[in-house]
Amino acid sequence: MLQQTQVLTVIPYYRRFIRRFPTLRKLASAREHDVLKAWEGLGYYGRARNLRNGAQVVVRDHGGRVPRDRAQLLEVPGIGEYTAHAILSLAFDQPFPVYDGNVRRVVARLLGLADPPPKLTPGHATERLLTDWIHEARSPGNFNQAMMELGQRVCLPRGPLCERCPLKGSCLAFRENLQNEIPRPRRRAPVPHYNVAIGVIVRNGRILIQKRPSEGLLGGLWEFPGGKIRRGERVVQALRRELREELGIEIEPGGKLAVVDHAYSHFSVTLHAIQCRLTGGRLAPKAAQAIRWVRPADLKRYPFPAANRKIFPALHSIQDRSPQRSQRNRA
Ligand code: SF4
Repeated sequence: MLQQTQVLTVIPYYRRFIRRFPTLRKLASAREHDVLKAWEGLGYYGRARNLRNGAQVVVRDHGGRVPRDRAQLLEVPGIGEYTAHAILSLAFDQPFPVYDGNVRRVVARLLGLADPPPKLTPGHATERLLTDWIHEARSPGNFNQAMMELGQRVCLPRGPLCERCPLKGSCLAFRENLQNEIPRPRRRAPVPHYNVAIGVIVRNGRILIQKRPSEGLLGGLWEFPGGKIRRGERVVQALRRELREELGIEIEPGGKLAVVDHAYSHFSVTLHAIQCRLTGGRLAPKAAQAIRWVRPADLKRYPFPAANRKIFPALHSIQDRSPQRSQRNRA
C-alpha cells in the first residue's frame, strides 16, 4: 500500500483491509471484486490484484507462510527487490538493504553522486555502502527504516535539515555545500491528457456498467462505457463510435450530465459524461459477460476508478428524469 502512497493516506485503508482480510488465507480465498472494493481510492490497482495473487501463491506453494528465502520471495507475484528486501529485513531480521527514492537521495548526498542509479545495482558504490552498513547494524529492519525516515524527514529534496542530521560528519554534499544540486533532478516525461466520452446508459431505472479486463490499467474495476475522443471528433460522435465498436450497441444521446477532470500519476483525463438511451444493436457475447445493469443506489458496491466516481453526484438528476421514477412519482 505504501508504494507511491503516503503513510497518512494509507493508514485508514490499511486498518479496513486488515479487518476485512485478517489472514493470508482469507485474502487468498477472497473474490477479486471484494479486494478491489477494499482498495478503492488508493489507486495503482495492480498492487491489490498482486497482493491477492501473491497470497494465493504463498498458501499454495508455502503452506501459508511467507518464505524467508530471497529467491523464493522474488517468485511471489507482486514482490520485487524492494518489497523482498523490506520483508526480509523488517520481518525476518536479514541484512538486505532497501533502496527507495528517499534512501537514494541520502546515499547520493553522502557519496556526492549527482546521478545515482535508479535501482540497487550490485557492485555500485551506493549498493556497497548500504550493504556494508546493514551488515554492521544490530537490527537490519531498524537500519532500513532509519534510512527511509532520514530521507523523508531530514534529508529533504529541497532544503535538507543538515544541522539536525546524524550523518553530517561523513556527508560529502554537506561538506561541499552541494545539497541542492545532488542528486540531479530526473527529467520526467510530459504527462499526456485525454478527453474521454462516457455514456451513462439508462434502462428501466438501471445504469449500464462495464468491467475492465483484469490485466492492465485499472484492471478489474467497473466503469461507465465509452472511450477516448479522437482529434476532430465531437463528444457524441466519439461516444457512438466507441459503444458500437466495444459493445455493439446503438444509443440516442440525451443531455450532458457532467464534465470532470482527474489526474492520475502518468496521465490526466477529462471525462464528458452524456446520458443516453439504448436504441439498438446487440451486445457482443464477450461484452455481455463484462456488463451489468445496476440500480444507481447499488453502484457503490462496485469498485470504480476515481475519475468515474466523480460522476456519481450527477446521477441524481438521471433518477429524477427516468420514466419509472416519474410514473412512481405520479402514482
Ligand atoms: Fe542529507 Fe544534509 Fe544529512 Fe547530508 S548532512 S545526508 S545532505 S541531511
